[in-house]
Amino acid sequence: TNKYEAHHNPIGDLVEDSIRFVWRHGVAAAATREARGPLAVSASGVHVTDADGRVYLDGLSGGSAAATLGHGRVDVADAVHAQMTTLHWVSLRTFINEPSIELGRRIAGLTDAGLQTSFFVSSGSEAVESATQLAKSYHRAKGNPERTKFLYRKTGYHGTTLVGASASDNQEFRTWFAPLAPGFVELDACYPYRRPDGMTEEEYGDACADAIEATILAEGPETIAGILAESIPAALVLVPPANYLRRLREICDRYDILWIDDEVFIGVGRTGRWFGFEHFGVTPDIVTSSKGITGGYVPLGAAIATGRVMETIYGDGAATQAKVSGHTYAAHPTACAAGLAVLDAIEKEHLLESTARIGEGMIEAFRSRYAGHPNVGDVRGKGFLIGIELVEDAGTKAPFAKQLAVGRRVMDRAMEQNFMLRATGDVITLFPALVTTQQDADDMVAATCRAIDEVLGEL
Ligand code: PLP
Repeated sequence: TNKYEAHHNPIGDLVEDSIRFVWRHGVAAAATREARGPLAVSASGVHVTDADGRVYLDGLSGGSAAATLGHGRVDVADAVHAQMTTLHWVSLRTFINEPSIELGRRIAGLTDAGLQTSFFVSSGSEAVESATQLAKSYHRAKGNPERTKFLYRKTGYHGTTLVGASASDNQEFRTWFAPLAPGFVELDACYPYRRPDGMTEEEYGDACADAIEATILAEGPETIAGILAESIPAALVLVPPANYLRRLREICDRYDILWIDDEVFIGVGRTGRWFGFEHFGVTPDIVTSSKGITGGYVPLGAAIATGRVMETIYGDGAATQAKVSGHTYAAHPTACAAGLAVLDAIEKEHLLESTARIGEGMIEAFRSRYAGHPNVGDVRGKGFLIGIELVEDAGTKAPFAKQLAVGRRVMDRAMEQNFMLRATGDVITLFPALVTTQQDADDMVAATCRAIDEVLGEL
């Protein structure tokens, strides 16, 4: 590269270089040349600034829900700096370290669900994979090594590694990365808005649970290790009927199948509780977490098992029973120090309460704004996880034709108007940071409605 030109036109060159030197996650190879996202240069609170000086209001916690404390937190940076200059990292193979012990203890105490032991990794996909290994260890320790299958649900997303992709309903991954890991069995989603006509939500919750049990019986319970299911599937914001997870819990108990509740997206505050399962009065066997656990400041993930699961795995022979992989960055002290600073901030600033209150207000605002609207079928959510389903006909729930790409257009329009929202199909989703204020929330509601109304008006 001509250095003078690079100096002369730094942004243009960086865009070219980003295509050449950085594989952009989540963007299909063929589209990479087109995918010239803005160049982010700085961020503070719920605003991100690009190289042209445009300031984006961030309705997505950085884009993938991780920046739950917003951007530019000095308290987290200070904690990270202090840890890095004291003990940045040593291997868990050789040493134990204090930040990870403290973070594990704090996580165990967040709820009364009996969560006990954290297996700390560096991402959500690794947390999911580790959870499946813990589940297999549990069954091996009980003398059932043939229990190796996992059930997952349609529309679910659990990551990009082989296990994550094998448990995800992402057809691009499923074809492109075939063959996937064996032993992953698909279940239907629990999608209350799309339940059969004439069924109450509760009847639908029961029907979904009955279908899970039927699949278990057809596969053979003695072959199944676990079910991977988010308490509230985040991509489409599928808040389940109250009875659904209770029934899932009963079914898991009946057949000694472990419920792995993937809380990578919503865990650590997003729904106004520490974890999504708390809304339903149920307790999973293993919970996965990432994103919010460090607010995205440093990568960290965790598979968190209950004491019951761990007692079985340790058994009488203690560690001889358990074979779980160990990553170089397992229980990374600096990442765990960031996690502790994030938990402190959430507690001190009462962010669970404000998330529940302001998030509920946003949901209400969308509901009243769009009551009776012919193209807004459903508004749903919990805390700062909000979904608005756009349809061709709210009366019949008929979806828009795919080629209209309504959701995509709303997302692009919002971005043109300096606002970050997401569309999964035609479900418009928002997942702002827990530090979002009432004023920010009002701005986000206005920006969302503007993009939706403009695009619907053009159809
Ligand atoms: N599980 C869920 C529910 C997720 O939302 C994600 C990421 O979006 C993952 C797993 C994978 O996490 P990561 O992207 O950190 O590997």
